[in-house]
Amino acid sequence: MKPYPIDSDGFYGEFGGAYIPEILYGCVEQLRNNYLSIIESDDFRQEFDSLLRDYVGRPSPLYLARRLSERYGCRIYLKREDLNHTGAHKINNTIGQILLARRLGKKRIIAETGAGQHGVATATVCALMNMECVVYMGKTDVERQHINVQKMQMLGATVRPVTSGNMTLKDATNEAIRDWCCHPADTHYIIGSTVGPHPYPDMVARLQSVIGEEIKKQLAEKEGRENPDYLIACVGGGSNAAGTIYPYLDDDRIKIVLAEAGGKGVNSGMSAATIQLGKTGIIHGSRTLVMQNEDGQIEEPYSISAGLDYPGIGPIHAHLASTGRARILAVDDDEALQAAFELTRLEGIIPALESAHALGALPKIGFRPGEVAVLTVSGRGDKDMNTYIDYYHQK
Ligand SMILES: *Cc1c(COP(=O)(O)O)cnc(C)c1O
Repeated sequence: MKPYPIDSDGFYGEFGGAYIPEILYGCVEQLRNNYLSIIESDDFRQEFDSLLRDYVGRPSPLYLARRLSERYGCRIYLKREDLNHTGAHKINNTIGQILLARRLGKKRIIAETGAGQHGVATATVCALMNMECVVYMGKTDVERQHINVQKMQMLGATVRPVTSGNMTLKDATNEAIRDWCCHPADTHYIIGSTVGPHPYPDMVARLQSVIGEEIKKQLAEKEGRENPDYLIACVGGGSNAAGTIYPYLDDDRIKIVLAEAGGKGVNSGMSAATIQLGKTGIIHGSRTLVMQNEDGQIEEPYSISAGLDYPGIGPIHAHLASTGRARILAVDDDEALQAAFELTRLEGIIPALESAHALGALPKIGFRPGEVAVLTVSGRGDKDMNTYIDYYHQK
């Protein structure tokens, strides 16, 4: 696997880097100096691979969705991250990072969470490894994602509700960074996506790249070639997309389509389409595209899907968009909901609302007959049943 080109300061073109308070310099530097040698070591690979296999249930299937393919006139394969333990791709990253934290001698784990998926995946690996776990979560999210809060507590984590800002993911991330500043020596911060200061975006992309590596092998078996014509994924912070495309990035024959959350419409004032609406700025330690007003104040994003409701985007994705390597499509709430019902009725798979945004991109692409597309279903829809039921009754 060729690494995606970043310079030694963690920049992808003009995006990336590490904009951090002085107090965190030591621990970010420790990570930066050690992450590659640790995650490339045999000892790490063995433990990581065996947990991915026996604990997560990897490889996740690559499934040829026949009825969905018929509808769009091409061959659509679904990469089934929804079948992983804890129901999404997030567990790949949390397992990798907790193994890294142990090798760095850390005793305590903190994390931020929006919908609670990353919080549950972090609490899960902390139970597995017997480590103290504190999860920061906006109070609004604590109220609307109660089951995930209860799961984290059952797993032994402490959930700290955050009451600043509009009490969602951005605010929880600020609070986690504040905690890290108070405990830099003994604490590892498990960031849940390809965001944050260098080396997080690169580290998370590498840990998630197991998705794309498996696609290569599985597609070679099923289609006789490891390259699809299209790779399609949704982007919140960008980790399932980065994992899907990572091994394919330097081959321009493979078209990359990334779906971001249009909310109620890109120009409605209620959107989370960061790549289309954002301007270059700094958020959570990284220079990237950020939704901000003219004074540089971060704007509150909106999406029906809590996992995509973030005003920033991974620096990798900002770079892929600015260089034209990836095509970015905004998928609105309604389009995502329709796509979720379409997949459910055609294939018997209820996707997460985030993944439904990737599916909502299908009608916009314009496939030619015989083309092969791989779409990553990042998670399952259990957590979104209330939203789906409300939509179903409205229709
Ligand atoms: C968190 C989440 C996402 C968004 O995060 P990325 O880092 O962009 O992948 C997408 N899908 C599911 C199911 C999630 O839980």
